[in-house]
Amino acid sequence: MTMSAQQYVSSVLEKLIAKNPGELEFHQAAKEIMSSLELVIERHPEYIEANLLERFAEPERVVIFRVPWVDDMGRVQVNRGFRVQFNSAIGPYKGGLRFHPSVNLGIIKFLGFEQILKNSLTGLPIGGGKGGSDFDPKGKSDNEVMRFCQSFMTELYRHIGADVDVPAGDIGVGAREIGYLYGQYKRLTGQYTGVLTGKGLAYGGSLVRKEATGYGLIYFVDEMLRANGKGSFDGKKVVISGSGNVAIYAHEKATSMGAKVIAMSDSNGFIFDPNGVDLDTIKEIKEVNRQRISEYVKAHPHATYTEGCLGIWNIPCDIALPCATQNEIDAAAARTLVKNGCIAVGEGANMPSTIEATDIFLESGVLFGPGKAANAGGVATSALEMSQNSQRYMWTLEEVDAKLKNIMVNIFHAADEAAKEYDRPGNYVGGANIAGVQKVAEAMMQQGVV
Ligand code: NDP
Repeated sequence: MTMSAQQYVSSVLEKLIAKNPGELEFHQAAKEIMSSLELVIERHPEYIEANLLERFAEPERVVIFRVPWVDDMGRVQVNRGFRVQFNSAIGPYKGGLRFHPSVNLGIIKFLGFEQILKNSLTGLPIGGGKGGSDFDPKGKSDNEVMRFCQSFMTELYRHIGADVDVPAGDIGVGAREIGYLYGQYKRLTGQYTGVLTGKGLAYGGSLVRKEATGYGLIYFVDEMLRANGKGSFDGKKVVISGSGNVAIYAHEKATSMGAKVIAMSDSNGFIFDPNGVDLDTIKEIKEVNRQRISEYVKAHPHATYTEGCLGIWNIPCDIALPCATQNEIDAAAARTLVKNGCIAVGEGANMPSTIEATDIFLESGVLFGPGKAANAGGVATSALEMSQNSQRYMWTLEEVDAKLKNIMVNIFHAADEAAKEYDRPGNYVGGANIAGVQKVAEAMMQQGVV
């Protein structure tokens, strides 16, 4: 007897959970993705024959390695490094490196799995991967960060390459870390290639890459608002969690479009400034001085600082942009946002809403832009950086920004059309998963059992 699509998807998911015990974030991402893919499998029974989903859910390669380094006191420290090369059906592996004490294999696998679909959605030829370490750059000196990055790359360099696997930044990995990693790669291999993206402008970086995830998020949400007759960012009150790379440039673009950002956060707490959060102060605190966001109220005494992250979602707003980390909006926070009249949520972070929170947004008619679509501007611009490196050429700011905007608008419409085609109009979670998987599935089918 042949299996139904539903039976097939459940059996793949069951095996995935049994084979990867304890990898909770990976299970969560897989459940969310697989539940939408059931519809695709129904229309393509040949995928069951080819056992496509089980292959899709198994990384092509996982590398785990020791990263020893010496701190400023002369003590030997040991961290764990990861690179998950998940899927190369449509291009070289591509995805960021995360340095944060919470990093483990399950987190890197969830990020890598999502990355396959996100990269496909950009329309550019890039496969999915992700990596990182449980190293915490916070509180470390520049020399310690450099020694760690050099040790990390001393193992990683064997596994990456401009046509093989091209890492970039993520939480805890910004311009400083990419610079140290690139310097060590070049020293070890003697090659000047585009093996990392997010590089400094002086050595092969692309204009707009730093801003790309935040700007792209705003382009996506703006298109989502317009397509649904909800106006634009102009005049909207916005709450943004986080105050890192994605959050800062989301603020910059939203503000330039006439929105007022009234709250931001870090991993300790959040600030609320009813006059609009001053971005120059945030950049000074976070980008220049690497301090805590609580410093903000010293320069702006009318603003308030509250310890703890979750409370930020109690602030009434029109648009919520979670830009910090996974599972930062739970069911209770989602209900509060809906009750307070929030009309749209755009995920700058990866999987910041739990499955329950996502369901609450969808059931309440809140416009919901899932991370793999809404935050794809970073990786899209990384792919543009790769193109420029291959050509040994640099596009202007206007050129890159126009391409980014075009890609984000296209991603919105791809998710929107797939949602409509599969009878889920307005459900961009399902739409993004379906639109993202189509090209990857086709490529995997054409390449045989590999
Ligand atoms: P950064 O390291 O620049 O900033 C992260 C921000 O989130 C900081 O404000 C940090 O606070 C806060 N944060 C981190 N971990 C936690 C936590 N466990 N609880 C509460 N707050 C936390 O990272 P990015 O801005 O690059 O990344 C943010 C999110 O966006 C991540 O989910 C990432 O995967 C996603 N993303 C990033 C892309 C990029 O191009 N950079 C591309 C696509 C997605 P603190 O300062 O206290 O550490």
